[in-house]
Amino acid sequence: MTTVLLVEDDPAISEPLARAFGREGYQVRAHGTGTGALAEVQDADIIVLDLGLPDMDGLDVARQVRAQGLATPILMLTARSEETDLVVGLDAGADDYVTKPFRLAELLARVRAQVRRASGEVAEDSLSVGGVRVDVAGRRAFVGSRELQLTIREFELLRVLVRGASLGGGAVAADDILKEVWGEDPTGTRQTLEMHVTWLRRKLGDDVDAPALLVADGEGYRLTAA
Ligand code: CA
Repeated sequence: MTTVLLVEDDPAISEPLARAFGREGYQVRAHGTGTGALAEVQDADIIVLDLGLPDMDGLDVARQVRAQGLATPILMLTARSEETDLVVGLDAGADDYVTKPFRLAELLARVRAQVRRASGEVAEDSLSVGGVRVDVAGRRAFVGSRELQLTIREFELLRVLVRGASLGGGAVAADDILKEVWGEDPTGTRQTLEMHVTWLRRKLGDDVDAPALLVADGEGYRLTAA
């Protein structure tokens, strides 16, 4: 049985989450403090960790888990986008993050993906268009045999575009991309999207000035099979 160690001091978040994990068939150990959680990390298959805990910083919990030599997947819950930058920037050992308020379905999908990856299961859901392939469950992306080093947003953006392209080659509207990739996050604006498109083009090896692979199309973007 998969054990989720849930570390969150706000019962309005932890209680519904614990119930949802239970419904998914996970065994749940819930803690409101970092100290309490650290006593149980050895038994966890995945750690869902709030950044702002009353007794210590969630990043310190993550560091201590890694300092014990544990590779247990850690999914951070962050309250603001500035915190997200911190989590990603500091590289304290978190594998993924979700910004509050999050959609329950999204968080559960992220947890499933991390559990699957940690257990070494072969990812079945893979999408591709042209030479671009996205391994959705494993959260990896490739151009030919070259693996791309993408941030979580870049990965999500690419996933949405590859899915759009493989479902008939149409463009994906910018508003739909923003809804799916940024959700309720207020940093999800057209400008942010344009920046991410530029970064993604660079990583794909597309020409940023005259893109041929990730092209603007009407009110959105399209990934070509070129
Ligand atoms: Ca908190």
